[in-house]
Amino acid sequence: MTLPRRAQFDLPPGVIYLDGNSLGPLPAAVPGRVSAVISSEWRTGLIRSWNHAGWMALPARVGDRVGRLIGAPAGSVVMGDTLSIKVYQALAAALEMRAERRVVVSDSGNFPTDLYMANGLLSTLDRGHSLRIVEPEAVIDAIDGSVAAVMLTEVDYRTGRRHDAAAITRRAHEAGAVMIWDLAHSAGAVPVDVTAWGNEMAVGCTYKYLNGGPGAPAFIYVRPDLIERVVPALAGWMGHDAPFAFELGYRPASSIERLRVGTPPIIQLSALDAALDAWEGLTMDEVHAASVVLSERFIAEVDRRCPDLTLVSPRDPMARGSQVSFAFEHGYAAMQALIAGNVIGDFRAPNIMRFGFTPLYLTEADVVRAVDALQRVLSERLWDRVEYRIQNRVT
Ligand SMILES: *Cc1c(COP(=O)(O)O)cnc(C)c1O
Repeated sequence: MTLPRRAQFDLPPGVIYLDGNSLGPLPAAVPGRVSAVISSEWRTGLIRSWNHAGWMALPARVGDRVGRLIGAPAGSVVMGDTLSIKVYQALAAALEMRAERRVVVSDSGNFPTDLYMANGLLSTLDRGHSLRIVEPEAVIDAIDGSVAAVMLTEVDYRTGRRHDAAAITRRAHEAGAVMIWDLAHSAGAVPVDVTAWGNEMAVGCTYKYLNGGPGAPAFIYVRPDLIERVVPALAGWMGHDAPFAFELGYRPASSIERLRVGTPPIIQLSALDAALDAWEGLTMDEVHAASVVLSERFIAEVDRRCPDLTLVSPRDPMARGSQVSFAFEHGYAAMQALIAGNVIGDFRAPNIMRFGFTPLYLTEADVVRAVDALQRVLSERLWDRVEYRIQNRVT
């Protein structure tokens, strides 16, 4: 058994971290790498490092490493910007591919920024597009011949419910629509195979399960046969075929690099590159199998010991991502009390206590100790203390 790989992470002693689905912890390899980038590549190498330290190639090189975790071939994934921006780029490109159609389908389980970005794009385009937001269970039936693009997040950020990506992609293609998957809660959590699904595009972030650190750059995947045709709505110079020719007109690169926009965040990309070492030699099937063991144990223990909590994630482990959520009326305060006891999960409005299971650094013993703490918060009504009721800006 190759998991957990706890030595690859620098976790504070005593903390049980069940929030790697929101912000992954610090991989042990990151500080050394970041420090070398700063003191050697930046301080000493100065501007020469764009060439000599491979900075210019980093977005595509790291993209290939992320690609391995989502079933994407080399040369089909590139890093940069934030996920919100990548959602915008992917949807804009999809609408260009189906210029005669006017409907975008998404669901009410999607992360709000994806919907905000979509609405912003549609109103800027001002071509009469509409965003059709349906319940997650109704997505398949909402896809008809008027749909230009289906844009969904595979794993619901609140409940962990996982879409049947292969089936929805098939339906989208039968209807002639472009399929975009947001893999924010999938990459590094569940096995993903964009090649087998055949979806045109995918996007995701890297500060969640991939442990790239706060503000780590996002990724975008384009199916290889479409790369040379995809129209970059954000025509930045780094996506130009020859950025240093400084031509007045934009000509997109023929590679996936056409979806780069501006100067990449080298320090953050280097941190992510080092963070990805923790995945070497592992398959996502192995990681997922270990995650299922942890989450099944957690659910069984909570069911037995914390009757006030109601499971809102699917019971079938194959129908959920790598997180488990419980509804509880005093969920916010209960989570604050739990965090004060060094068991860190998070809260999502209106009443959801959310726990992420990340087998790279968690064991079943951690899971049992977390439930011990949770049981104590509930049985001693620690959530009823005033100090745990003060709402922070980030929950
Ligand atoms: C976390 C998450 C985001 C965050 O977007 P940023 O631009 O990186 O802040 C967007 N979409 C989904 C589905 C997410 O889970």
